[in-house]
Amino acid sequence: MNFFETEYTIEKLRDAYQRRAVTVSGVMRQFFDYIKTRDASVGAFLEVFEKEGMERAAALDAQQDAMDPLAVLPPLFGVPVAIKDNMLYAGHRATAASKILEGYVSAYTATAVQKLIDAGAVIVGRTNLDEFAMGSSTEYSAFGVTRNPHDPDKVPGGSSGGSAAAVAGNMALASLGSDTGGSIRQPASFCGAVGLKPTYGSVSRYGLMALASSLDQIGSFAKTVRDAARVFSVIAGPDPLDATSTPYPHENLLLEGAAVKKKVLGVPREYFVDGMDGSVEAAVRSAIDRFQKDGFVVKEISLPHTRYALSCYYIILPAEASANLARFDGVRYSRLDTIPAQAGLMELYRKQKGEGYGDEPRRRILLGTFVLSSGYYDAYYAKAQKVRRLILDDFEKVFNDGVDAILTPVTPTTAFAIGEKKDDPLSMYLSDIFTIPVNLAGLPALSLPIGSGFSKENMPINFQIIGKHFDEQTILSLGEYYETYLKGRA
Ligand code: GLN
Repeated sequence: MNFFETEYTIEKLRDAYQRRAVTVSGVMRQFFDYIKTRDASVGAFLEVFEKEGMERAAALDAQQDAMDPLAVLPPLFGVPVAIKDNMLYAGHRATAASKILEGYVSAYTATAVQKLIDAGAVIVGRTNLDEFAMGSSTEYSAFGVTRNPHDPDKVPGGSSGGSAAAVAGNMALASLGSDTGGSIRQPASFCGAVGLKPTYGSVSRYGLMALASSLDQIGSFAKTVRDAARVFSVIAGPDPLDATSTPYPHENLLLEGAAVKKKVLGVPREYFVDGMDGSVEAAVRSAIDRFQKDGFVVKEISLPHTRYALSCYYIILPAEASANLARFDGVRYSRLDTIPAQAGLMELYRKQKGEGYGDEPRRRILLGTFVLSSGYYDAYYAKAQKVRRLILDDFEKVFNDGVDAILTPVTPTTAFAIGEKKDDPLSMYLSDIFTIPVNLAGLPALSLPIGSGFSKENMPINFQIIGKHFDEQTILSLGEYYETYLKGRA
């Protein structure tokens, strides 16, 4: 059996384990060997946990040997999963791809990571990202670029570029990412993976390094919607350690075809903009047409405040980020060994922050400090909060008018070349115009491949399905329906 064919999935691996056709040790050996060759040209991982991964595999094999052969295996039994390096995993390094945290070792484990482990997953390594999850290409990592598995000259997207590339490059069957403005959905599109950004509050953020706490959400990458639903059902749920987590029961995530077909779909006029890549627009429209031809009710809708979303986000995000990053004060998480013992406070700050942060965190800390400063607070931050409310109201109005889910593009272009936008932050920011409103409104959204035959330069293109709060069921069901019945159609 070849584990590295692109169609290999968690479901198929489970089936093989259940039949005892393979062992976890055998599967993990192949994965780690494959990572060694493949990741040399992709650079998805900052660190691979091979030794402990193989030990864990042996323990899982022993666990299965002790089980009744007919017993159902735990939901992620023996599944290789990668984690974005802004999540804590006790005893392992966690850097957020920043020099300021180089050498930092996690003191505890993020709830989402712990849930993966409890469900039987093997954590294969920690993946590269834009520094502190600020960026859209993974080029803002302090530890090197990650390349798109489909074309080494192109970026994988970001900020969860390593997690997307690990799955798309067949080096893991699922991975965790975080999505504050599109960091799961955009790299999923650039790499041709499935990416789920859950509802704000569906998955505990305990142990996730905060970027913007009112926007951040942990979610996953997988190869199929069914696999994404499986990972979501494992990581979702309330957590006493995160006061914003919710007890909403996420059961029966994949509805049957007949129930799916009753869903009313909305297509927002504002999401097809001038300057968008023609091949992306054509591909997204073809996905929408396939729903329509199949008998779905598809309505044109309007989300009039969409055009303010990017500006609103780039006030709220830096404001929250500047507050969150203040904890890196050079004392609590520091590289004190690089600072002379007799250094004064200012010198400590200057060295720690001056040498520790890259340009993008620096830019955002300055912006955030500015918009929160007295005299500017009302003009920027307070106003952005009001605009955020209007953006949410737009979505609520459409949902109250009978729309069950919204279909849109994920990004205006396919993966761009490495180096193309690195020195042009504004054009980098623009790659998130279709994903940011979802975070501002706290909604769930799925990014999934449209299918072959539409990509410019043969690069993947995804579309986005946005749902109501806590209605992951509808977007996953629609996604699975598309993947099963519509994706192969012309
Ligand atoms: N690219 C966006 C930004 O730079 C989104 C980041 C994210 O979702 N973490 O802020």
